[in-house]
Amino acid sequence: MWAASDLRTRLGHAADYGLDIGKVPEFDWETFVAKREAYIHRLNGIYERNVANDGVEYISGWARFAGDKGDKVVEVSLLDGSTAYYTADHILVATGGYALIPKNIPGANHGVTSDGFFKLTTQPKRVAIVGAGYIAVEIAGVFNGLGSATDIFIRGDKVLRHFDPIIADTLTTTYEKHGVTIHKQCKPFSAVTKLPSGALRIDYEDAAGKSSIEVDTLIWAVGRAPNSEIGLEIPGVALNKQGQVECDEYQNTNVDGVYALGDVIGWIELTPVAIAAGRRLSDRLFGGPQFKDRKLDYTNVPTVVFSHPEVGTVGLSEQEARDKYGDENVKVYKSTFIGMYYAVFNDQDRKEKTVYKLIVAGKDEKVVGLHIIGDASAEILQGFGVAIKMGATKADFDSCVAIHPTSAEELVTLV
Ligand SMILES: Cc1cc2nc3c(=O)[nH]c(=O)nc-3n(C[C@H](O)[C@H](O)[C@H](O)COP(=O)(O)OP(=O)(O)OC[C@H]3O[C@@H](n4cnc5c(N)ncnc54)[C@H](O)[C@@H]3O)c2cc1C
Repeated sequence: MWAASDLRTRLGHAADYGLDIGKVPEFDWETFVAKREAYIHRLNGIYERNVANDGVEYISGWARFAGDKGDKVVEVSLLDGSTAYYTADHILVATGGYALIPKNIPGANHGVTSDGFFKLTTQPKRVAIVGAGYIAVEIAGVFNGLGSATDIFIRGDKVLRHFDPIIADTLTTTYEKHGVTIHKQCKPFSAVTKLPSGALRIDYEDAAGKSSIEVDTLIWAVGRAPNSEIGLEIPGVALNKQGQVECDEYQNTNVDGVYALGDVIGWIELTPVAIAAGRRLSDRLFGGPQFKDRKLDYTNVPTVVFSHPEVGTVGLSEQEARDKYGDENVKVYKSTFIGMYYAVFNDQDRKEKTVYKLIVAGKDEKVVGLHIIGDASAEILQGFGVAIKMGATKADFDSCVAIHPTSAEELVTLV
C-alpha cells in the first residue's frame, strides 16, 4: 500500500522531469487490494508448507491454558468446534497484540482499526485517523498519496512526538504541506454518528475550537494491547500493569518451561524482533551446548516508519543521549538539505526536505543515535544499522568514502 501511494505521488513529479503524462490517474483500489490479498494468501501457503516440511504439526485453533487437566495444559478450540489438549516441556506464548478502540466515546465502534484498514474493499474519499504514532502516520500517508482527503486528530502539536524532534517536526510540516489536515490539541471526540448516507459525522474539539466533520472511514490508531488473556494465571505467569507478559532477556517467564516474546511482551514491537527472539530461543533450548547462552540483544534495533517520506531511527534520541551521558559528553551532527532528485522541480515549494541527525558520545565519539527522514530512509538505515551495532565512531563514518550523488553521502560527510 505504501509503494502504491509512493508511486502515485511520484507520478505527480513526472512533469518536473519533462514527462507529459497528463492528469495523475485515479487509484484502482479494488483491483490492487485483490492482488495484495492473493499475494498474502500465497505467502500463507508457502509458510504452511515450510512448517510441514520441517516436520512441525500445525494446529489451527484458539488456545488457552486450562487448569482442570494440569497447570501446563493448553486447551485448543479447533476450527471444527471440537477441543483438543496439549502439553509440552517447553511452551512459548507469542500471541501478539490487538488494536484498541476507545470505550468512552459514543459511536466509537463505527470506526475501525488498522485491521479494518486492510479489510477496506473500496477507497474512502474522506478519512479520519486518530493517533500520532507510527501506524497513524503510515495509514495517513497511504491515503493522502492515493488521493483520499485525509484528516489526522492528535492530542499534542506534532505527530511521532516520541521520536527525536527532527523527525516529529519535519514529518508534521511535511504532511501539512502534502495536504494532510492535522487537528492539534484534540480532545476525545464527543460523538461519532452514522448518518443515513452511510457517512460518519465526528464531533470534535481541537486547538481551533469545537467543530464537526463528515468522513467515509474513521480509523483508530490509539494504541495496542497484548493478547494475554489466555489463562496465563493457571500456570502462574506474571503480567505487568499493561497486561504484557513479564520475561527476562532469555524470554523466560517466571514459570519454568513457559517462554514469551514478540508483541505480547511489548519490548520492541517489530516483526524481525519477534523472529530474532524466536530464533535465539530455539537455538538456546534445542541447539546444543554451544548455544546455551543465546539471547537477543535488544539494543540498537533499527526502526523505520513507512511515512511519506520515510523515517529511520536507531539508538538513542538526543534527549536520551544527554540524560545517559551528560550534556558535556554528547555531540550532535545535523544536516538539512534538499535531495538532488528535487533539483529539477519547477516549484521551489514542492521540494522535499531531508533531515539527518547523528548523535555521538564520549571522547571517541561513538555513535549512539541516528535519526533520518527523507527518501529511501528505510534502505539507507539498514546498512548504517550494521555499523552502529558494531560500535562505529564518527571517525569510522568519516573514513567511509561518500557515494555521490546520493542523500546518504551526507551521513559520512557531516561536520
Ligand atoms: C498496522 C501495523 C503495521 C506494522 N508494520 C510493521 C512494519 O512495517 N515492520 C515491522 O517490523 N513491524 C510492523 N508491525 C508490527 C508487527 O506486526 C508486530 O511487531 C509483529 O507481528 C509481532 O509478532 P508476534 O509474533 O509477537 O505477534 P503477531 O504477529 O500478532 O502474531 C500473533 C499470532 O497469534 C495468534 N493468536 C493470538 N492469540 C491466540 C490464541 N489464544 N490462540 C491461538 N492463536 C492466537 C494471532 O492470531 C496471531 O496470528 C506493524 C503492526 C501493525 C499493527
